[in-house]
Formats: sequence, structure tokens, C-alpha cells
Amino acid sequence: MRSFIRITVLAAATVLIARPAAAQLKVVTSTEDLASLAREVGGDKITVEAIGKGYQDPHFVEAKPSFILKLAKADVLIAVGRELEIGWLPPLITQSRNSKIQPGSAGYLDASLNVRILEIPTGQITRAMGDVHPLGNPHYWLDPDNGRIVAKEIRDKLGELRPNDRAYFAQRYADFDKRLADADKRWKAAMASYRGMKIVTYHRSWPNFAEHFGLDVIGYVEPKPGIPPSTQHTIELIDEVKRQQVKIILVEPYFDLKTPQSIGRATGAEVLVMPPSVGGVPEASDYFKLFDYDINLLTSTLKKVTGK
Ligand SMILES: [Zn+2]
Repeated sequence: MRSFIRITVLAAATVLIARPAAAQLKVVTSTEDLASLAREVGGDKITVEAIGKGYQDPHFVEAKPSFILKLAKADVLIAVGRELEIGWLPPLITQSRNSKIQPGSAGYLDASLNVRILEIPTGQITRAMGDVHPLGNPHYWLDPDNGRIVAKEIRDKLGELRPNDRAYFAQRYADFDKRLADADKRWKAAMASYRGMKIVTYHRSWPNFAEHFGLDVIGYVEPKPGIPPSTQHTIELIDEVKRQQVKIILVEPYFDLKTPQSIGRATGAEVLVMPPSVGGVPEASDYFKLFDYDINLLTSTLKKVTGK
């Protein structure tokens, strides 16, 4: 009997010693931008999967049953917030029946809480009017300073869930912060000669980007965020593009090019398809490469149209 106990105790001790380090935290994000930022901070202590792809309109991601399975197994869910995902994410979260990632739970992170949000409506604005930006502009990740704030929030959230790895996440964040500062200097220098350039964009995806890099967005192909172009609005926009001598119309990869191209033909402005998200084109494979790609595309076109 005594030897049996001894063996049992020994076996239990072996199990304890052989126990591997804590399993990787399973992080699910609503977009590829957030997935890239999570990877920067989480390194090999986490696994990351994005639900929406960068080539899809983040307001309108088609809900698939496989997303529910991903969410059911997740330890952390990171969302853009500001109602960007309101049309598709809340039912998936509910159906996952995963208490860890319900809004308000420790495993749910709304990335928008401390970033700089532009275009916050004053007065009564409801989605009934068709505007898909009722809580301010949700495309805030296109300002690298906001990307830094989101990365910091992810660092804190991961550290809260895995206190033993706090130093690891802090070190990864510090390294990301430094690389982002260096890259941003490069991006700003490339854009410096085009400060104040007027552009038109299809959707209101770019106010934070424009503010950070000194562009002036004077109009939109959509009459309101989420509302398709109308003839009347397009006619007015063509007049405005001519009057203000706008040279570039930016279009997100998931919009129809017909209206932008007709505006381009009527005004001589160049139509540029520019991804607002990681994964929007294969080259924009992470947060840094997204800006590398977009700044390169913009500056090479601006150089051509301005001669500067
Ligand atoms: Zn939007």
C-alpha cells in the first residue's frame, strides 16, 4: 500500500514537472489590421485569426458558420468598435456561446476606446439615415499614432490575461513602437512635398490617414458613408473636382469602379485603387507593409500628376 502511494505521488510530481508552459492564447480579431497589431505584441505567446479579410468592406462581412467556431474557441476577441462591425459581429459573438469574449468580459477588447476618433457627429444622427458612421469615423487605424495606441491596449489586455508574460508583451510592444516611429518618419518624409494636396475618396475611410499625412479630402463618391453613389451627387462632385482641380480619386478595393471612372473621365483625375486594410492587396501583408504600399502608390501618382 505504501509503495502504491509513493508511486502515485511520484507520478503526480512527474506530471507537474512535465507540464508544458501555458498554451498560447487564442486571439480572434474582426479585421486583419488588428490581427497584425496583435501579432506584433503577442509574438509566439498567442495565435491570431482575423474574421474579416482586408479585401472585404469591413462594414459588411458575410457571416459564416466557421466564424462561430473560431469565436467559440477564442480566449480574446479584439474588435474595431464604433459600430464598424455592428452589422455582422454581434450575432456571431452571441452564437459562439463563449462567455470569455462577450462584450464586457475580460476577453473582449474594443480597440477604439482610447484612439483619436474623427467626425464624431453633433446632434441627432441615427443609422436610419443610412450613415454607417454614427459614432464617429471607425477607420481610425489608418493613423499610425492610433495603431500605436491599439498595440498598447493589446499589450495591456494580454498582460492582464497572462500576468506571467507581461514582460514579454512589454518588450514586444517597445520594439514595435520604435520600428513604427522610424517607419513613420520615412512615410512622412515621402509625403512632405504633397502637403495640402486635395483628393476625393469613395468612402470616408481616410480622414485619419489624411490628417496624419497632410492630405485634404474635399469630397466623397458616396453621398453618405454606406450609401451608393447617386446621379445628382456625382454631378455635383464632378463640378467640385473641376473647381478645386483635384487630381486623385481614391477607391477602396471592394467598391465598383464605374462611378469613380466616369468622374475621372469627366475631370481628368486619376482613379487609384488603394487598400485601407492589411490584406487589401497581397503586398500589404502587415501593418507596416500597408503604409509602405499606400504611401508608395500615392507618392508615385502624386509625382506624376504634379511634376513635384
Ligand atoms: Zn466606414
